[in-house]
This record gives sequence, C-alpha cells and structure tokens, in this order.
Amino acid sequence: MRFIPSEVEEALKSLQKIPGYGERGAQRFFYALLKLPPRERLSIVKVLAEAVKKLNPCKECGIYTDKDICDICTCPGRSKKLLTVVEESDDAYAIERLGRYKGVYHILGGRISPLEGISAEDLTINKLLERIEKYKTYEVILATNPNTEGEATASYLAHLLRRKFPDLKITRLGFGAAFGTYLDLLDEFSLSTALENRKKF
Ligand SMILES: [Zn+2]
Repeated sequence: MRFIPSEVEEALKSLQKIPGYGERGAQRFFYALLKLPPRERLSIVKVLAEAVKKLNPCKECGIYTDKDICDICTCPGRSKKLLTVVEESDDAYAIERLGRYKGVYHILGGRISPLEGISAEDLTINKLLERIEKYKTYEVILATNPNTEGEATASYLAHLLRRKFPDLKITRLGFGAAFGTYLDLLDEFSLSTALENRKKF
C-alpha cells in the first residue's frame, strides 16, 4: 500500500530538475503553492504553462521573448552600436523599466562561477564577439551583478574584448557603494544612477 500520493513524489521530482532548486527549494515552492485556494493554484499553473510554452531566448540577444527576434532587437529606434551585457533576462528587464536606455542587450546566460562549475565556455561569449563584429559596436556596457562573481565576469570580458577590439569603448556600471547584491534588486534610482555614472573599464 502506498501512503504518499504519487502526485507528490512526481511534482517534487519535476521541480528538482530546475538547476539550483534542490530538494528544499522544490518542497518550499510546491507546498506554498498547495496552501493556496485551488482556483488560485490552478491559475498560477496556467500562467506558468503559457509562459513556458511561449517564451524562448531571442535568437539575437538571448532575452526571453515570445517571438523569434525580440522587440528590442527589431526596434528601429534602438542602436545596435550600444550593447549592454547582462547575466540574465531579468537584469535587462530591470534596465528596460527605466525607460531611457536606447541600445540593445546581450544575455550571457549566467556568470563565471567556479563554485557552481560555470566557466566562460558555458556563457554566450562567442555570440557576443560575433555581434560586436557584425554591428561594429561602439560601446559595450558591462552590467553583470555588483558582487564577486559578477565583477570577475566583467573583468574577464573586459580583458577579452580589449584584446579583440582595441578601439571598442568598454564601460562598467558605476554601482558606487552597492556591492554584494544583484542588479535587479536595485531600486530604480540606484540603477539609473549606475547607468549614468558608468566608468571606463
Ligand atoms: Zn533580442
């Protein structure tokens, strides 16, 4: 006789397939969801199902989009010569919410992290080099997170880009005193100031 519903086992096993989630993360998500009224649970799952069905990385910049090429990449008013490199789509959305950035993005898909076994080869760096070459980019803004791994990734990229494109302007967001945090956690004022006060790398 089975005492634990197979649905519980299956759900937890599925959630654990999400990288970085683990057993605890899966349990927290699943039981918090179950505690909601049935109609609310179902509506969340429906929204998630639609999102995962429709969203894929933009073939150009890697930001999550419901099209082949995202609206930012296809917008005639956005300059491909100004390119902001971020770790994840969330970071680009955070800058996008400021409503004043007129360039395009490049999503790395993470950061160099020896602890998590993520190296430069796991990121979309080759694609970044291709895009800089193709669009004759004038400035690359390194907007990886203001924490140890984000700084190390920015520094790695700066050295690589300087070697490959000696004339390229390479800048880093001016985070000021903010360190040990994530770009998408900054309030709009701080992020806006960081963009404004970007420094030559
Ligand atoms: Zn795009």
